[in-house]
Parts: sequence; C-alpha cells; structure tokens
Amino acid sequence: MVQGKNVGVVIPAAGSGTRFGGGVAKQFLELNGESLLSRTVKQFQIHPAVDSIAIACSNEGLELTASIVRNIQATKVVWIGLGGLYRQDSVRNALQHLATDIVLVHDAARPFVSGEIIDRVLNGVIEFGAAIPVVPPKDTLKISTGDMLVKSTPPRETLWLAQTPQGFMSDILKRAFHYALQNHFIGTDDASLVEQIGVPVKLVEGDVRNFKITTPEDLLLASLLAK
Ligand code: C5P
Repeated sequence: MVQGKNVGVVIPAAGSGTRFGGGVAKQFLELNGESLLSRTVKQFQIHPAVDSIAIACSNEGLELTASIVRNIQATKVVWIGLGGLYRQDSVRNALQHLATDIVLVHDAARPFVSGEIIDRVLNGVIEFGAAIPVVPPKDTLKISTGDMLVKSTPPRETLWLAQTPQGFMSDILKRAFHYALQNHFIGTDDASLVEQIGVPVKLVEGDVRNFKITTPEDLLLASLLAK
C-alpha cells in the first residue's frame, strides 16, 4: 500500500529465450545458485508497498515457477498462469488477475531491481498516473536509413533507455491494453501502449545495475554483481 493505494506487480516470465543454450529459458537461469525469477520475485515480496504479484509463464515453465514461488515463500503471489506469444500477451493475461489501484510491470530477467527504484516509480505513478525508470545512453545514438547509412543524429539529452518496473494507475494500463488489442498495436514496452492513448508518462531515475539479462555476457556481469 502506498498513500492509501494498493499495489500489484505483473511479472512476465513466459519467454522461451534460449539464446544461452541448454534449452533453459533465461528466467530460470541461475545466478550463483539462485534463479533469476526467484531473485526478481523476492525483491517485490520484500517491498512493503507491494500487496500482490501475478506471474505469467509458459506451459513448460508452470511447475518450475510454482516450485520457485513455494521455495521462497512468496506469499504475495496470487496468480501463476499462462502467458502468450508476445510479452504484451503475457502481461495482458496476468493483468486480468490483479485488482489493485496501481500496477507495476517488471521483467523476470531484471533481478537487480532495488527498493529505491520501486519507490521512485511508485511516487511517479502517484503524482503523474504513469512512470518508468530510465538511464541515459552512454553512446551517441544514430538513426539509420534502410540501407545502413546514417540518416540523423538525435540530440542525446532527449534520449533515454527505458527499464522496468514500469508503473501505472491500473485503470490507465487496462485502458491502454484494451486499445492496443482493438487496434492491433504491439509495443516493445508497456509505456508505449499508454503513450498510444495520450496519457503522459513520467521519466524517473533508473539504475544501470537494473539491466535486463539477455546475453551470456550479461549473465557473467550479473554473477559478479550478485557476489
Ligand atoms: O525477450 P525479452 O527480453 O524482451 O523478455 C522480457 C521479459 O518478458 C522476460 O522476463 C520474458 O520471460 C517475458 N516474456 C513473456 N512472454 C513472452 C515473451 C517474453 O512473458 N511471450
């Protein structure tokens, strides 16, 4: 509960990302003996503002997800069920099982989310209705033409890398998902759906350590950070 509002968390964990080899989806990869999913769920379980958690997983991942939740005694988990083809489908499915005022959506593959980031996002949601954590890009970004020539160089001060948890007043997020479904819009994050319905999204300070584990190099870095 934050400022009289209860908080739910959607964790999309239905990806089949097997780029690491061995056929293990990345949310189940272990970091110094503990899976990414376990580490991620724990961060929300221990946060005092969080009331409930819904986890979307694949059919093959259902049993493992349930056993991870049991092992860490994540009592706030109210739903574990099937995700969908795209991350957006997984989030939409899980969202239907939360009845909270505020919803945070957080990738299972970002185990270094901190209480401070969650607090900053929640404060942004209370004030603006929608908030996401961001970090500035380190490199100059280029926009390309179709044939890999530079089209332009956007000013770096206006560019940000979006992280999760992305937070929203529940009614805003549900409206955005409904609109996206009706208009066949697929976004690469949840905020992009909210942008489509014209609701301003506040940018709050993220953390470079809150990166998404995507490649074997990320996992190597993560195991150093976890020590
Ligand atoms: O593949 P990507 O890194 O974008 O996945 C981000 C998060 O979304 C991961 O936690 C992954 O398990 C989840 N996901 C999902 N359903 C999908 C695809 C990805 O829940 N269909």
